[in-house]
Amino acid sequence: MLPTRPADLALGQQIARLRGVTLPDGTTTTLGIVDGVIGDTPLGDNSGLRDIASARGADVNAEGWMLLPPAADLHAHIDKAYTWRLFGEPEGSLEDAVACWQEHGASLREEQIAAHARRQLDAALRAGVTAIRTHVNYHEGADPLRGIRAVIDAREDYRGLVDLQVVAMHGQLIDDGLVREAIALGVDLIGAAPHLSDDPRAEIDRAATHAEAAGIGIDLHTDETLNPASLDLADLARRTADWPEHMTRSAGHCVSLAVQPANVLAAVLDLAAEARVSIITNPLTNLYLQGWQHPVATPRALPPLAAILDAGVALAAGGDNVQDPFNPLGNGDMIDVAAALVLAGHLTPRTAWRVVAAGRDLLGLPRATGAAGDAADMLLVRASSVAEALAERAPDRIVVRAGHVVATRITSSAAVAVRERSEITA
Ligand SMILES: [Zn+2]
Repeated sequence: MLPTRPADLALGQQIARLRGVTLPDGTTTTLGIVDGVIGDTPLGDNSGLRDIASARGADVNAEGWMLLPPAADLHAHIDKAYTWRLFGEPEGSLEDAVACWQEHGASLREEQIAAHARRQLDAALRAGVTAIRTHVNYHEGADPLRGIRAVIDAREDYRGLVDLQVVAMHGQLIDDGLVREAIALGVDLIGAAPHLSDDPRAEIDRAATHAEAAGIGIDLHTDETLNPASLDLADLARRTADWPEHMTRSAGHCVSLAVQPANVLAAVLDLAAEARVSIITNPLTNLYLQGWQHPVATPRALPPLAAILDAGVALAAGGDNVQDPFNPLGNGDMIDVAAALVLAGHLTPRTAWRVVAAGRDLLGLPRATGAAGDAADMLLVRASSVAEALAERAPDRIVVRAGHVVATRITSSAAVAVRERSEITA
């Protein structure tokens, strides 16, 4: 029987073997998948495939396709998605976006929030994002927990497709009783934005105290400002330094690291590394929201990514906002985020994808790099290198979890693909 071409794989179909698939390092291999896990097979030929002879599923000729570890979006706001037009097509800085949210947010009903969140989850899954950490506001108006309820419902419904972690993000006006109610609903982490409060250190302490009482972790919007005096990352590191390793402490954004002198940057990153605080970079929203006051020499507002990695700090990435007042153009596709990490953050394409996939570790998910013993979770793209996949935004994608196809997006017909191949070899 002829091997199946990836473009012909159907939703739900099980894969037993991927022949000739390219790995991110450029090597080509044949992989077997047994019980949702990559089998122990030698590279390059079929001689060692006995152990997967009994594997059930499609035998796939994956020549011309590459395996990427699936993306993890570690900083999303799926409760805010698709509100940009609804709220009057606003533009402007972080402060403008927050003000717009406060003006219009009360009009959002729970069903709307649920529908928007699910639309983003579907878009993300089709794009190859199988894990998301989303922040959720205490929503304006009556019933501030309606967004948290809607997103927790979605978390259960998308289990096995998109692993969703929910961060309940309070502002300084949200009282402790409401935070405890959110914890009781089953949120995974506590969030806040200390740099927007009157007393950032007190806000960090309040979030950490709630997390300790509940036995969960924190992910704070941290230093999302070009003001160099804002160094909440250092306070967050000091406050959580003695936490056990399993308790998450993440710092999203860390924009002000971009404007620190080298010695301050090094000292703060040392503190973060020692306290095992992870940094989540969100290049698209930072490029959009920061720098409105700087019409010339406009800063990019990304933290120095290479320095963060060199300091031994765990670094992941987020898409952040999807067509809301904070970014009119987000789309939930982490390939766009990886491209921004290259263009604006000066990482290599391969390192950018490592950062985009690194969020899996922070969520405690099993490794998925295509190595023997790894989970058979992957994003297959029609490309010959990571750089090509990012440059062309990988129009053809197949998303696999535990060896089963969970989403496909094929733009070119099989006939076109065959013609392209014959032209290349002619
Ligand atoms: Zn955010």
